[in-house]
Amino acid sequence: MDAKLRERYSRQILFAPIGEAGQERLRQAWAVIVGCGALGSAVAGLLARAGVGHLRIVDRDFVEPSNLQRQTLFEESDAQELLPKAVAAERRLRGINSDVEIHGIVGDVTPENIGELLGNAELLLDGTDNFETRLLINDYAVKNGLPWIYAAVVASQGLTMPIHPGESACLACLAEDDSGEDDSGRRANEPTCDTVGVLGPAAGVIASLEAASAIKILAGQAQPRDARLITADVWTGRFHSMRVPRRENCRACGQAQFPYLEGEAQPRLTMCGRDSVQIHERGRRLDLNALGRNLAAAGNPVRQNDFLLRLQVPPYEMTVFADGRAIIKGTRDTSVARSIYARYIGG
Ligand SMILES: [Zn+2]
Repeated sequence: MDAKLRERYSRQILFAPIGEAGQERLRQAWAVIVGCGALGSAVAGLLARAGVGHLRIVDRDFVEPSNLQRQTLFEESDAQELLPKAVAAERRLRGINSDVEIHGIVGDVTPENIGELLGNAELLLDGTDNFETRLLINDYAVKNGLPWIYAAVVASQGLTMPIHPGESACLACLAEDDSGEDDSGRRANEPTCDTVGVLGPAAGVIASLEAASAIKILAGQAQPRDARLITADVWTGRFHSMRVPRRENCRACGQAQFPYLEGEAQPRLTMCGRDSVQIHERGRRLDLNALGRNLAAAGNPVRQNDFLLRLQVPPYEMTVFADGRAIIKGTRDTSVARSIYARYIGG
């Protein structure tokens, strides 16, 4: 590390558990943040500033005005320009720290592409908004022996827990029981950001705890036996920290059964925070320019940039990405979304 970098990270190097050796480890480190909403953008900002050398940010969505209340990497201009979150995040993070390599990927993590999207990672960070994707990440991390950090936030509260496969409790240890039943039925009725909202400070607290765990792991200072589940409510001021025991019969870290990785459980289509459905049935890329020309020639109101195309289909709005996915806003009905997709994009 040269003198300029030593000065840049001096306050972190002075922190004894990190020191210059820990800082050097951070510079060599590879972390992937899955999802770049409120949690993901706050974590990404903290890790880029801390000098984590290689950061990949995977997100399937685009910036909207309703994100700006809590998603700290984005600005009004990102929403006006219809930028995907991964693209806007990469731009902003490069401005924050040119010393780190940042790669934003516009995409949705699925059982088919998870190896490609998360490959090379030493650590996975949860910035997702749904439990299905978290269990998919857990299956991938446990199977490959990769540490990851679970985190979630809704309303004024949130929680986070680092997971060291085989050494500390995994997400299936926590969320499922010995009969192999998960509690997705109960979860279906749980409040989400969509029904009860979410506070920026709640996301900030949980993201800070998640980023601190990440820095500790990447600097080589984490003890798996010390992993704890921390819950926090910024409205009531109640915080709890507890050790979660591994379950011997856990189907993931005990019995090596990975149904989410095998694609037996479909990711949920309805997204958090909005009245919209994502379609990702098409396995091939789209030529957005050709599609835009055809739609405009047929008299459709189209806006597009290098990353996506937006079409008004009143009362709906369809946003199409180059990877073939589309987000249809204005409905929660997957059959309505599918029919709009088929009409304008094809099968
Ligand atoms: Zn487990």
